Amino acid sequence: MGAGHNALVTAAYAAKAGLKVGVFEKRHVVGGAVSTEELVPGYQFDYGGSAHILIRMTPVVQELELSRYGLHYTDLDPMFHASNGEDPWFVYRDAERTIHELNEKFPGQGDAYRRFLADWTPFADAVADLFNTAPGPLDMGKMILRSKGEMSMQDQLSRILRPYGDVAKEYFSDERVRAPLTWMAAQSGPPPTDPLSAPFLLWHPLYHRGGVARPKGGSGGLTKALARATEAYGGEIFVNAGVRRILLENGRAAGIELEDGQRYTARAVVSGAHILTTAAALPPEVVPEAAKRVRVGNGFGMVLRLALKGKVKYRNHTEPDSRIGLGLLIKNEQQLMKGYGEFLAGEPTKDPPIIAMSFSAIDDSLAPPDGEVLWLWAQYYPYELSSGDWKTRTEEARENILNAFEHYAPGTRDQIVGELVQTPLWLEQNLGLHRGNVMHLEMSFDQMFSFRPFMAASQYKWPGVPGLYITGASTHPGGGIMGASGRSAATVLVKDLTRRGWK
Ligand SMILES: Cc1cc2nc3c(=O)[nH]c(=O)nc-3n(C[C@H](O)[C@H](O)[C@H](O)COP(=O)(O)OP(=O)(O)OC[C@H]3O[C@@H](n4cnc5c(N)ncnc54)[C@H](O)[C@@H]3O)c2cc1C
Repeated sequence: MGAGHNALVTAAYAAKAGLKVGVFEKRHVVGGAVSTEELVPGYQFDYGGSAHILIRMTPVVQELELSRYGLHYTDLDPMFHASNGEDPWFVYRDAERTIHELNEKFPGQGDAYRRFLADWTPFADAVADLFNTAPGPLDMGKMILRSKGEMSMQDQLSRILRPYGDVAKEYFSDERVRAPLTWMAAQSGPPPTDPLSAPFLLWHPLYHRGGVARPKGGSGGLTKALARATEAYGGEIFVNAGVRRILLENGRAAGIELEDGQRYTARAVVSGAHILTTAAALPPEVVPEAAKRVRVGNGFGMVLRLALKGKVKYRNHTEPDSRIGLGLLIKNEQQLMKGYGEFLAGEPTKDPPIIAMSFSAIDDSLAPPDGEVLWLWAQYYPYELSSGDWKTRTEEARENILNAFEHYAPGTRDQIVGELVQTPLWLEQNLGLHRGNVMHLEMSFDQMFSFRPFMAASQYKWPGVPGLYITGASTHPGGGIMGASGRSAATVLVKDLTRRGWK
């Protein structure tokens, strides 16, 4: 049920293991929040995730041989272009180059960066390992024990339990360096003041390990390759095929019924849709209270996707570096906190920090030769507003994002030839992301590891319904383009159905 990237990963592994697989997707294309379409003639628009980072820390691409099915990754280097508008700097794949340039621009901050990487690389590696396995009750402890850094365990633990904004301050004295790193950590949703949120910053060393990459042709290159692989391994994929009900027989999952009434029987059903969508497709008596109590949150990001007739030109431009990596554009830390304050009050941020992405800089198939695609991800935007609704407030939010970007690259608005505005409501209505949360559920500690989506369902099985499996961002390790949940769910499924696993 659903053809998001995680469900497709499960499908491909299951088909490869010899199971007969059918994938049923509600939308007209596969991929869910990892899909791409030509929405403006000549310009390829991603609908959801664009920066492929975490999937590079998994064996999914190699094990499923996705390059044979058309997946070609291009590494972004520099990976990030950090800027307050006046003093841009870059995070290169090579840590030493990053350190060197940081020390030249902001004396001492390169050394701080080196210390930060040395302290937290073992921890980041341990996190990546845990992401690739089904969660266990002692994960937090394991994460700490496996992080054999120089620091004492006590120092390490006390930092892991802190808000990431505080940990960033411990390492980086210059706000021009600290604010963009904090802004990147804010991408998972929780604000820099949340206790227990430090891991969102502390896994930063993983960027230097796995890199930041883009599939050729757009983000959907990944899910198209997964669909091709599934079909090559014998599976079938159906689009415009929304699932209305998950069918049960004698308490077991026995198949699905589509919105048009067609039924398909099966030995097992896997849902890769949002946990609330899965729950809604089941008879109420098999939906535990815990499934209804999950914290979906209140949105947090929105995106303005632009087709431009010219290339992006920053005020302090370095060609081509400024256009390649993710632009971590933030004036100062106060800007992020102010935005979060407005969000808590139910208001769209007036002056948002931005992640700017212009991947036509490294992929000429995304836009005409003189043109550019530019995605502006901004925070924070509540799904539920304290005044008005998204129908009446979208234009104002769009204007504010464009204005905020003009601070970095004036004149961009004159280049616009087409656009897509994705508010939290748009994300819910078009991608099935309840309340506009791109991570399905809040990525707070109470909903991570064995607590995701809720304890009894943390092993990718629906409690009390044999034969019903779950995967996707609603399960461990959560949102993001990773495929680890899809792979772990496949391990459980194939083991149950074949008694031998897929290896
Ligand atoms: C705007 C945006 C920007 C993002 N940026 C990044 C980024 O740069 N990097 C990153 O790592 N992550 C990013 N993310 C997050 C990441 O893309 C998602 O967390 C992830 O793709 C979720 O994948 P999934 O497989 O779990 O589920 P989904 O992609 O949510 O897939 C669920 C699928 O189920 C389908 N479905 C729902 N109901 C039914 C039904 N009844 N019957 C059949 N099918 C159904 C949906 O249509 C969908 O295709 C972003 C997300 C968004 C939306």
